[in-house]
Amino acid sequence: MEKEIICLSCPNGCHITVQPTGDGQYQFLGAKCERGEVYAHEEITDPKRVVTAVVQTDSEEMSYLPVKTDKPISKKYINPLLEKLYSQKINLPAKCGQIIIHNFMQTGVNVVITRTYPLVFKK
Ligand code: SF4
Repeated sequence: MEKEIICLSCPNGCHITVQPTGDGQYQFLGAKCERGEVYAHEEITDPKRVVTAVVQTDSEEMSYLPVKTDKPISKKYINPLLEKLYSQKINLPAKCGQIIIHNFMQTGVNVVITRTYPLVFKK
């Protein structure tokens, strides 16, 4: 079945029509470059997203800290990842960029903290 995808790889936002050719392959119409075809192919076969969330900490002062995946992860792993994130706690102090999950389910994707807490200012 034909599907239209908007390429998000650059600000052009090309509308790409994906047509199955019947032999397991696809034809991509409307992409202005090869990156668009790669993007559209991934979107229909194994779409990926960067996941952002908040994770509980062990402190009442700062109950939650924001986290994100360090690269896009296949959508099929998002729910298991969120379940894991919501079942764990971050021990403070925490530093921006600190990895709290390494190589989630052998995907090569890590989850990192995106805020340092507490902030320490040097005089
Ligand atoms: S197809 Fe190429 S030009 Fe069009 S939005 Fe994607 S990356 Fe940009």
